[in-house]
Parts: sequence; structure tokens; C-alpha cells
Amino acid sequence: MIRKSVFGILIVLAAGISLAAIKYNPSDTEQWEPVPKVISALHDMPPSDALVLFDGSSLDAWTGRDGASPGWTIEDGALVVNPGTGDLLSRAEFCDIQLHLEWMVPTPAPDTSGQSRSNSGVFLQDRYEVQVLDSYDNETYVNGQAGAIYKQTPPLVNAMRPPNQWQSYDIIFTAPRFHGESLETPGHITVLHNGVLIQNHTELLGKTVFIGQPSYEAHGCAPIRLQDHRNRVFYRNIWVREL
Ligand code: MG
Repeated sequence: MIRKSVFGILIVLAAGISLAAIKYNPSDTEQWEPVPKVISALHDMPPSDALVLFDGSSLDAWTGRDGASPGWTIEDGALVVNPGTGDLLSRAEFCDIQLHLEWMVPTPAPDTSGQSRSNSGVFLQDRYEVQVLDSYDNETYVNGQAGAIYKQTPPLVNAMRPPNQWQSYDIIFTAPRFHGESLETPGHITVLHNGVLIQNHTELLGKTVFIGQPSYEAHGCAPIRLQDHRNRVFYRNIWVREL
């Protein structure tokens, strides 16, 4: 009796498998179009479809607040915060992007600690700050250390290199969506610091604020902003890909 039912099950299974083989073909699930655009992505070079915002030679892609000429300087191919001259904004406005930039903090002055040690920042859409800070052996509130979504979300790990070494940020930013004045979908940020994932599709709670709770205000595409927090911080190799 048991033998018979096992035999029956085998027949049913075999029939099912052969039926599946008739019904489906590996090519049914192959997609051939649209063909992804071919780009070149050479070692240590911006991808060929990237918009280069700073390559060490000029500040043409940048402006000061309200169209003022940028007050930062170029030293040995690096863009340097000139303390007190104000933030730098990209002339172009962006929505969803992949952003690459490299930054370096100098040897800390003896009397500096916490938030006063090489503070700067990368603001997406002029509003949402990924913190830049010397977080190498420098205690501060964790949602204010390097790689934090400032005053919102600490980085998953501290991947900071010592001062005087270049660091990299690779940022994937999905802009918030608005319907009229109301929020439809919050923004999200993914960040790799020196190749290490430190923000994993982190939801933005609203515009970065120093005091109080973040909230959203409706806006469209907007510039990338680099912060002058009155500390000398170096940037280089800044490029962006619109997504
Ligand atoms: Mg900052």
C-alpha cells in the first residue's frame, strides 16, 4: 500500500516537472532591452558620465551664497575652506544623485575638541547635512560625528582615518518628494566612508537643524553645499552623477 502511494507521488512529480519544462523556457525570463548605456569607469577617475564639480583646477562650478564669488582657495590642487568666507554652493541644482568627494582634516590644534575640530559638512539639496569632522580619537555626540546625518542618525561605524590622510565619501541620495506643500516620500541617504557602509538607505527626518526637531519644507532640486564652519578642511575629486 505504502509502496503504491510512493510510486504515485513519483509519477505526479515527474509529470509536474515535465509539464514545467514544456511550459517554461530559460529565455522567458531574459531581458534584452533597454540596453544599459556604456560608460567608462577607469581606476581613480570619475565615471565618463559624471559631472565633475572640482578637479583641482578651478572653482567655476561653485558660487558663494546669493551668487557671491566663492571665498575658498585652491592649494596644491585641493579646495580649502577659507574660514569665515561662507559656504560654497554648486552652481548646478540636483535631485537624486550619486556624489563622490574626498576630504582631509589637518593636524588638530591643541585646544580643539568635539565639534570644533575640523568641522565642515556636505549638504544635499542645500538642506540635509552629512557631517564632516575630525572624528579620529575625538569624542562628541554620535549624531554629530563624521558621517552622521547631522543631529539625526549616527554612522553605523567610525571609519575615520587619522588627520592629514585623504578620506572619501560616496553618497547615494534619493531626494524627498512633495505633493504641493506636503511630503509625499521622505529623502534617503546611503553613505560609504572610505569604502565602508556607514549610512544604509537612512531616512531623512527633515532639514538639518542645529536646535530642535527636524521637519520638512517643500522644495525642488537644489545645489550641493559645502559648509564653512570656520575650520580649514580640504576637499578634492568632487563629481556627481544624476540618477
Ligand atoms: Mg558640519
